[in-house]
Amino acid sequence: MGKLIYMDNAATTFVDKRVLDAMMPYFTNECFNPSSIYDGAQDVKVAIDNARANIAKTLNAKSNEIFFTSCGTESDNWAIKGVAHANKEKGKHLITSKIEHHAVLHSMASLEKEGYSVTYLDVNENGLVDTKKLEDAIRPDTILVSIMYANNEIGTIEPIKEIGEICHKHNIYFHVDAVQAYAHIPIDVVSDSIDLLSVSGHKFNAMKGTGFLYIKRGTKITNFMDGGAQEFKRRAGTENVAGIVGMAKATEIAHNEMKERIDTNIKIRDYIIERLLKEIPYSRLNGDKNKRLPNNVNIGFEFIEGESLLLALNDLGVCASSGSACTSGSLDPSHVLLAIGLPHEKAHGSLRLTISHETTIDDAKYVCDNLPKIVDRLRSMSPLYEDFIKNKGE
Ligand code: PLP
Repeated sequence: MGKLIYMDNAATTFVDKRVLDAMMPYFTNECFNPSSIYDGAQDVKVAIDNARANIAKTLNAKSNEIFFTSCGTESDNWAIKGVAHANKEKGKHLITSKIEHHAVLHSMASLEKEGYSVTYLDVNENGLVDTKKLEDAIRPDTILVSIMYANNEIGTIEPIKEIGEICHKHNIYFHVDAVQAYAHIPIDVVSDSIDLLSVSGHKFNAMKGTGFLYIKRGTKITNFMDGGAQEFKRRAGTENVAGIVGMAKATEIAHNEMKERIDTNIKIRDYIIERLLKEIPYSRLNGDKNKRLPNNVNIGFEFIEGESLLLALNDLGVCASSGSACTSGSLDPSHVLLAIGLPHEKAHGSLRLTISHETTIDDAKYVCDNLPKIVDRLRSMSPLYEDFIKNKGE
């Protein structure tokens, strides 16, 4: 197999070698249960405490506000269902947006089945939540607002600080799904007025099966799992020690290198966006041009099926993702692309390239040199495109 160009970092990332090194002892010499009392086990407990403290620092949170989980999905489920169940005497109304990840949307849907009501806010054509509409949706029985920090498909960064202020003015809990944002851009839970924040380790070079939920002290929330005394008696289960230590290492690396990574990512991101929009007719950028994750490119090509693009890129050794959910067994286009107003046929032709600090400008050039040819070839086989060109008289 030739060179692999991995541009699907929003789906998952490679584990950093330094992270793997930090994890190794906890599979072997130090594989003790942190709840045991002998010295080795207590050292393991200290490693978890240090991991918690180091992660807390990156968010301006306190150590006892970080709860380790198994993934972003678990963190979202716990935050939303836990707050809803613990606050049902106060009210049973929640607010979210139409472009959230399914971990949020399906948690909301599950609460609706229990008799809660949920407002799903529209977003504008760039995927931004309108803070005025959000405030108008607040009712006396609203208990929680859940809005993502940045969207996983189109990379749009939401006005989190403003939303946090609105929530706190109305005495409502604010949950943020920061799975795509944490360790990629700076986050401060205090200045952003965030009460709960979900994170997933495998999105920033830690291993799959790791994550955490930040829960601000004093937040009323039910336990996620009952059992032992782990995670301050709120999320029982023997800790994934190696995973936790590795995630803390990945956090440290990402934060130390963040400024440099953001700068290089933005250069490569904008190079790709500019070239593709210029060299491929009938293409458009999905998501906000400026309020955008440094690693996200999402471009729609008219008269193209996203899946065909992915297969053609795969043949060239490029891993990417499309905006359509066909790969997950459904023919529906992505709910995010529909929510930003794209008609079905345009939503089907979207391509997401998510780069990382390991992506080089040569990788970007290779993709940009090849994509126009691929799009041309696919369009030449499209009857819709043929009709369109005929009608235009070209
Ligand atoms: N939230 C967002 C925004 C995501 O992008 C993802 C994963 O892609 C998740 C939640 C779920 O995270 P995990 O894969 O760790 O369950």
